[in-house]
Amino acid sequence: MKQFQTESKRILDLMINSVYKNREIFLRELISNASDAIDKMYYKSLTDEDLTFNADDYFIKITPDAEARTITIEDTGIGMNAEDMENNLGIIANSGSLRFKTEAQIEDDHEIIGQFGVGFYSAFLVASKVEVYSRLAGDATGHKWTSEGAEGYTLAEADTDITGTKIVLTLKENTEDDNYDEFLETHTLRRIIKKYSDFIRYPIKIDVTTNQLKEGSEDEYEEVTSEETINSQIPIWKKNKSELTDEDYVNFYHEKHFGFDQPFAHTHVSVDGNVSYNAILYVPGSTPFDFYTPDYKKGLELYSSGVLIMDKCEDLLPDFFNFVKGIVDSEDLSLNISREVLQNDRQLTLIAKNLQTKIKNELGKLMKNDFEKYTEFFEAFGRTLKYGVYSDFGAHKEVLQDLLIFESSFEDTYTSLADYVERMVVDQEAIYYASGDSLERIKKSPQTEALLDAGYEVLYFTDDVDEFAIKMLRTYSEKEFKPAAEFKAEGDSAADKEANETFKDVFEAMGTQLEGKVASVVASSRLKSHPVALASRGEISIEMEKVMNAMPAGGAVQAEKVLEVNTSHAVFDALKAAQTGDESRFALMTDVLYNQARLVEGLDIEDPVAFAQNISELIV
Ligand code: ADP
Repeated sequence: MKQFQTESKRILDLMINSVYKNREIFLRELISNASDAIDKMYYKSLTDEDLTFNADDYFIKITPDAEARTITIEDTGIGMNAEDMENNLGIIANSGSLRFKTEAQIEDDHEIIGQFGVGFYSAFLVASKVEVYSRLAGDATGHKWTSEGAEGYTLAEADTDITGTKIVLTLKENTEDDNYDEFLETHTLRRIIKKYSDFIRYPIKIDVTTNQLKEGSEDEYEEVTSEETINSQIPIWKKNKSELTDEDYVNFYHEKHFGFDQPFAHTHVSVDGNVSYNAILYVPGSTPFDFYTPDYKKGLELYSSGVLIMDKCEDLLPDFFNFVKGIVDSEDLSLNISREVLQNDRQLTLIAKNLQTKIKNELGKLMKNDFEKYTEFFEAFGRTLKYGVYSDFGAHKEVLQDLLIFESSFEDTYTSLADYVERMVVDQEAIYYASGDSLERIKKSPQTEALLDAGYEVLYFTDDVDEFAIKMLRTYSEKEFKPAAEFKAEGDSAADKEANETFKDVFEAMGTQLEGKVASVVASSRLKSHPVALASRGEISIEMEKVMNAMPAGGAVQAEKVLEVNTSHAVFDALKAAQTGDESRFALMTDVLYNQARLVEGLDIEDPVAFAQNISELIV
């Protein structure tokens, strides 16, 4: 007996032992594997001249056996050799369906397991024993793989004259709570197939036995068994929208393993025109665990007249909508289309352009109709939209600007830019924003304080991309974006000018001491409770300096800093006194105030030890 790989074993254990209610999906998983296997046969026949694809030869058959308590799932697909079985069935982590982060997370949410596919292993949801007979197309011998669960599996040559793959599930014993026998009933199987696998392109057959009058007799009945095809074989995207419920769409999303959550939104597009196509698109309900890693690949499934030609067609989605999942089916694409050709395919470009608009509209609709849900969506994927605004030199800002939302001082919730502008007070010149590491910090910052005091709304930027995106936008609805630090209340400028004159000596002395650290020291009447603050002049803000310096290639970018001083603060009185009376005390104070301003801005202190010593010295 071979052991499953440790990872596989752990997951298998978890899955089998979880309080998993939706175990009927095992059938969906096995049927979709069978369908994939037939697809592979179909591809092969496209390139292999010795193979002809005769549609009638390809089907999936489900056979329950009430006496033996088994369900058999057979397909006439490509099959597997010993190595395939070893690699594909022996290592659960190999499954492309494996989509979750940590064990802890799974344990927290057993429901989740029912939502996503663990593919082949879902057989163990209902089976105590799984036997797989398979022969790879073209091979002389077949093999048999057997497993009774987490313990491991055996693999042996099998004297099978089967075509494709046959999986025999021996159902678990019934318990007080669980009745597995229902899966032996034709009507249950029919219901499950209809629910999850109706659109599978190959016939899914079941033998149905009915009592019928014996031929030539008037009162004698006999049992007649005939093969029935259960699925309609019409892909969901070719069905009429009016026939489909939300549940159908969500089922399809799960069946396709697009995600294991409830999608935020879905849309069904049918276009007849220059280029005809059907598409079903989803905005996933949560961020995929690998979303921000290089492993994440965007793309939609691409079908040509119902046949899958590409798993993840990247060209159908712009990067800023890379979270969208779904399928596109078009009759206007050539089946043998290669990746290179696709890139320049005019039809495909048209479809992609169209879809971009559809997605934008769908998100706009969500924002309008359910802002709370949109906020959830934005918390999951908003960063991507903001990167989209920033990337390609702002080429996509028109598409994206109305989809942006930011936290704001207005009722402490998110707001769209349109709503912000709508609320702007008379004479308000700009859309003001304040950035920082956290909301807490921004709200308490000197810049924010002054704006709020003046009755202006402030957007709070906590995401490192925010300010970059806004710099790219420059304006919204003809209103300029301005950092809070640039805000001057009426009369401030004149007052500051005067103070700069009056306290020239003090500021000059401070400036000399802080040379190389700040460009200048100035009076600022916008400071209320803070004695000092750091602001920036020019294109690069302090937040941007932080972001750029955190990047691997960063380190050299400096914002041009200005130390603003609140001349109405008691601290300033002390500073003034020291400047004329006690030079060394003045130097200590200047250093401490400068570093304090850095701290408030979320910058590091250059020499923490010296800073600490200076404070101590000031205290004694
Ligand atoms: P996934 O289908 O998500 O990759 P599964 O655990 O369902 O993961 O299946 C693992 C692999 O085993 C498949 O990718 C396929 O290569 C192989 N496989 C499973 N069932 C069949 C089948 N009926 N015929 C041929 N190959 C199969």
